[in-house]
Amino acid sequence: MYDVIIIGAGVVGCAVARELSRYEVKACVIDKCEDVCSGTTKANSAIVHAGYDAAEGSLMAKLNVKGNQLMGELSKELDFPFKRNGSLVVCVNKEEMPRLEALYERGAANGVKGLQILSKEEVKKMEPNITDEVEGALYAPSAGIVCPFNLTIALAENANANGVEFKFNTEVIDITKKNDIYQLQTNGEMIETKYVVNAAGVHAGEIHSFVSRKKYKITPRRGDYFLLDKSVGDYVSKTIFTLPTKFGKGVVVAPTVHGNLIVGPTAIDIEDKEGTNTTKEGLEELIKKVGISVKGVPIKQVITSFSGLRAHEEGHEFIIEELEDSKGFINVLGIESPGLTSAPAIGIMVADLLRDLNHLSKKENFISKRKGILDPSTLTMEERNELIQKNNTYGNIICRCEMISEGEIIDAIRRPLGARSLDGIKRRVRAGSGRCQAGFCTPRTLEIMVRELGIPMEEITKSGGKSYIVMGHSKETI
Ligand SMILES: Cc1cc2nc3c(=O)[nH]c(=O)nc-3n(C[C@H](O)[C@H](O)[C@H](O)COP(=O)(O)OP(=O)(O)OC[C@H]3O[C@@H](n4cnc5c(N)ncnc54)[C@H](O)[C@@H]3O)c2cc1C
Repeated sequence: MYDVIIIGAGVVGCAVARELSRYEVKACVIDKCEDVCSGTTKANSAIVHAGYDAAEGSLMAKLNVKGNQLMGELSKELDFPFKRNGSLVVCVNKEEMPRLEALYERGAANGVKGLQILSKEEVKKMEPNITDEVEGALYAPSAGIVCPFNLTIALAENANANGVEFKFNTEVIDITKKNDIYQLQTNGEMIETKYVVNAAGVHAGEIHSFVSRKKYKITPRRGDYFLLDKSVGDYVSKTIFTLPTKFGKGVVVAPTVHGNLIVGPTAIDIEDKEGTNTTKEGLEELIKKVGISVKGVPIKQVITSFSGLRAHEEGHEFIIEELEDSKGFINVLGIESPGLTSAPAIGIMVADLLRDLNHLSKKENFISKRKGILDPSTLTMEERNELIQKNNTYGNIICRCEMISEGEIIDAIRRPLGARSLDGIKRRVRAGSGRCQAGFCTPRTLEIMVRELGIPMEEITKSGGKSYIVMGHSKETI
């Protein structure tokens, strides 16, 4: 019997778990996937938005600006990559300059600090590869870029260190309420709890329907991306947007915190809530539109493409509330962009709500800090040599593209809530994220996993479920 069950181990569920773990509470996060960060949180633009885009006075605007402000301190506390690189919204048409000014006004009203409208010359000086058609741009110095995987993993690990349990491969298939207790029927056990937080992303509408007469329609709005090689990672230094449309913020060109260049997304409404395949049409649209803001983007340096699904609710607003007709059930629904940015603020808002509802008291021994996986590339040559002397697995390079050592992979597996799949390792230490996209390192990473997890290679998956990599020994079939 739990006090709180959080459904969904994306950035939102994990942020709620981390903030809730400040209190004396028996809480558990459950997810149908095999790891944290397996839904929308793993496939987005990774931008920490400044906050000029959301409608003035909306909850989305408030949480965006607060989340942006919290991100810097949080990245230090929980040790994940974050950089305030600033953003530009580029205007290429003189007639549209008033729209840029309207964005500036909205941003100022939302409380975004440091906004400036730049002239053509100023923009070109700041970003030489901006299109020659530029008329002006809105500059937001507070915008940033983050590693969505490490942000989420850090939140989860810290929540876990403070007592929150995690159950994976656990899908909620029905919820009933008896005598003020929620009974969550999953694909395995039945779990009882006093409070439920619905942070199930694109599936939050279905979870909500188990307990309420009111219906929410969540449309998966797919966004396709290209990820470009690190050799062109500095093609722009700021995050470059075009003027937004009713479908979103347009095609973005941005550096990533790991040194790649990201181009995307599209915005295509689909039916399938698991439909994260890219399409030829989507990728062609990116190629067509990328030049609107940045000239000559070296798109042929693409190393992979992927897509993510926005949980678009018709009102385009974050819905965070206790249900009127189902007390103790809290929706965190419609968390589309800027959900990643807002997550730290959403976490606080929901934890405050639960504290008040359940009269929770603060934990005396809350652990506020978490140390991430050691990245030997941040060490000096002397420090690195010393590390290898102490532990020679740090001298065994497994992923040659990203220069990831065996020591880092072992840490990714052994730490609490450690990696159990190839993608889990990739999200934690980037083995397989480079130019060859795991072509060379997969067999070597698999060998480490076999040894560390004590399971046969045939049981290791790419991303849980039946995504097995090795089907058997080749000579067995002869
Ligand atoms: C194309 C695109 C670009 C974006 N760009 C940005 C950006 O640059 N900046 C920004 O701030 N935001 C951005 N966002 C938004 C951001 O990615 C999301 O708001 C955020 O990741 C949502 O997190 P979440 O935890 O709500 O959802 P998710 O990460 O999807 O997590 C929900 C979890 O619930 C689990 N779940 C679902 N159903 C069940 C069930 N029945 N039982 C158990 N578990 C279940 C899923 O497995 C999943 O792990 C973007 C989104 C997209 C799609």
